[in-house]
Amino acid sequence: MNIYDKIIKETMLEVGKGDVRRIGGASARPWPDSGSSELVMQREAAFELGGSGKPSVNYTCVTTDPDFSEDEILIVGRDLPAVRSDTAFARIAILGTEELGEDEAAHDAIRKMEFVRYHVFPKGYMVRVSTTSYKEQVRVSAKAARAGISFSSVGADYIARYKEIPGVKKVRMIFITDEQIVEALAPNAKKVDDITKTLTHIMDGLNLDCSHCSMKPVCDEVDGMREEHLKALKKGK
Ligand code: SF4
Repeated sequence: MNIYDKIIKETMLEVGKGDVRRIGGASARPWPDSGSSELVMQREAAFELGGSGKPSVNYTCVTTDPDFSEDEILIVGRDLPAVRSDTAFARIAILGTEELGEDEAAHDAIRKMEFVRYHVFPKGYMVRVSTTSYKEQVRVSAKAARAGISFSSVGADYIARYKEIPGVKKVRMIFITDEQIVEALAPNAKKVDDITKTLTHIMDGLNLDCSHCSMKPVCDEVDGMREEHLKALKKGK
């Protein structure tokens, strides 16, 4: 499946403009997960990612042709131990999956990837997600900051969760605190959401009638969307 590939390419071009640090997923030590949503009060907080009106964005892309060969975490800008006050923030996940047209598990990856963002609970790292604005804000507790929480450890938590989804083979987690890059990437979140919604409709059995389809503006812009619809129809026969 290549329908997110253009956005992945644009994302990586933008990421490459920053100060990028790479950590292999296998060498990252997971941060303790509290198992459920945890409240970090403002008075207990060290800082907020995406707080004080700073830009923040979150999106997840799927590809069957990832340009990475193992799980990895990319940090663009300051890592958590170097953050001293509220800062811009982006968290982007790129999932390398099995071929969508041949494996039902990859369909599941599309449906379940949204679910993951609500089900990772690093201790002292309270995530607030806005589905309408595509923002993801995080309040980091002073206790977690003192204990050395970092994007590599939080990234390892996300990777483990994404890899529980059948069909997901490799994960690249990107954490960005460089404000200019966060701002440049923000418009991608809506495009990704449009693609995912269209794909979900296709998988739910939408008729192939482009002239009367409300998804047409998305399919006109995204290479491979009509092919995905044809594939889904063939599979359904
Ligand atoms: S391929 Fe045509 S019918 Fe299918 S979702 Fe796109 S515009 Fe709609």
